[in-house]
Amino acid sequence: MTSIEYRLPQVRRVVTELPGPNSAALTQRRKAVIGAGVASSVPVYAADADGGVIVDVDGNSLIDLGSGIAVTSVGASNPAVVAAVQEQVAHFTHTCFMVTPYEGYIAVAEKLAELTPGDFDKRTVLFNSGAEAVENAVKIARHATGRDAVVVFDHAYHGRTNLTMALTAKAMPYKAGFGPFAPEVYRAPMSYPFREGLNKDGSAITGAQAAARAISMIEKQIGADHVAAIVIEPVQGEGGFIVPADGFLPALSEWATANGVVFVADEVQAGFCRTGDWFAVDHEGVVPDLITMAKGIAGGMPLAAVTGRADLIDAVHAGGLGGTYGGNPVACAAALASMSQMDELDLRGRAKHIEEMVTTRLRTLADEFDIIGDVRGRGGMLAIEFVESGSIEPNPAVTKAVSSAMLAEGIIILTCGTYGNVVRLLPSLVISDELLTEALDVLEAVIRKVAA
Ligand SMILES: *Cc1c(COP(=O)(O)O)cnc(C)c1O
Repeated sequence: MTSIEYRLPQVRRVVTELPGPNSAALTQRRKAVIGAGVASSVPVYAADADGGVIVDVDGNSLIDLGSGIAVTSVGASNPAVVAAVQEQVAHFTHTCFMVTPYEGYIAVAEKLAELTPGDFDKRTVLFNSGAEAVENAVKIARHATGRDAVVVFDHAYHGRTNLTMALTAKAMPYKAGFGPFAPEVYRAPMSYPFREGLNKDGSAITGAQAAARAISMIEKQIGADHVAAIVIEPVQGEGGFIVPADGFLPALSEWATANGVVFVADEVQAGFCRTGDWFAVDHEGVVPDLITMAKGIAGGMPLAAVTGRADLIDAVHAGGLGGTYGGNPVACAAALASMSQMDELDLRGRAKHIEEMVTTRLRTLADEFDIIGDVRGRGGMLAIEFVESGSIEPNPAVTKAVSSAMLAEGIIILTCGTYGNVVRLLPSLVISDELLTEALDVLEAVIRKVAA
């Protein structure tokens, strides 16, 4: 593995209260001009970022365990990405691929064909955001199958556009007041081992059983031959970093194949080395028909993609897919550089190493504190689910207390979960061991204090 060079000192340094005076002043300016619907979970304004740190406008250096929601896996100013962007931006910023195409778009598609699972002929279409990719995967599946229904799951998050709101499970804050929603969207039960009941004999419900439950609902309530697509996050993100029981995804994917249903893996959050593989489906050898990607793909530049079976994607007539900015040349240059960095820096290996470091610590904590209901996740996508002591009752108050206390200590940490009771760790995959250890030390002290 090439060693990682950092531009900014990789230190936690808190020199003001958080947020500091300059951040507070920006919050005041913001209130006068920015829509209240856009909320920031950490009211500290960024001035610089590199590796595992964000330096704010008051000179505080914060450890970043959020990576802008799993985006800056290669770092927020990875030198190879910066150089590729500078090179491209000096030549042209945009021509529109639908007007005057360029090579970068093709090179990204070639790379995605190579990295995504499946040895069939593949095609790719590029977009700007995760929601747009998911929405287009549904367009493709409907067009190719001539069917309407789309199956999604409890706790799912797929975006904020009208169709993807309908696909998303949680009302507050994503859907409340924004209806009516797109029709022909059906929600099936997820495999959520921590909250799953047990079989009568006390054994855990298996992935295969959870899949059978979902399939039975689909067959009885929709009818297999009406279903265009199953859309699922192989590891759920926003909904609580839920890792389905082994066997759940393979069984769903097999059922989809047998019934002419397009299996769409929404890898927007879990993809690009985040879980220790290129894609989270790789863990169980699941080969989706279509994969949606965004977040980690381009080192922070806005880019999204749908990659999958050529027969499905090519079923769409010319002009049926696209967009003015989709596959922007600067974003494509960033994606190519990011994907090579992932290889050169062995970020799959780094993600597995992070998992080992973090889960060892967190499991010890879970043994000690009964407000920790579950520790789960894969690679650099890890979570703690907080509960009321001695039960599985969600504990959002403790979750909030932990994230606020972490910020006061100079560490950015995000929460998630249908019940708002999950703290998620999504460090950049280039974070140093020293910085991560420091963050875990502080997390342990904070949990100790909150639990007391
Ligand atoms: C973030 C996310 C989306 C939406 O992506 P945007 O770029 O915010 O539109 C879709 N699916 C999953 C799994 C996500 O995590």
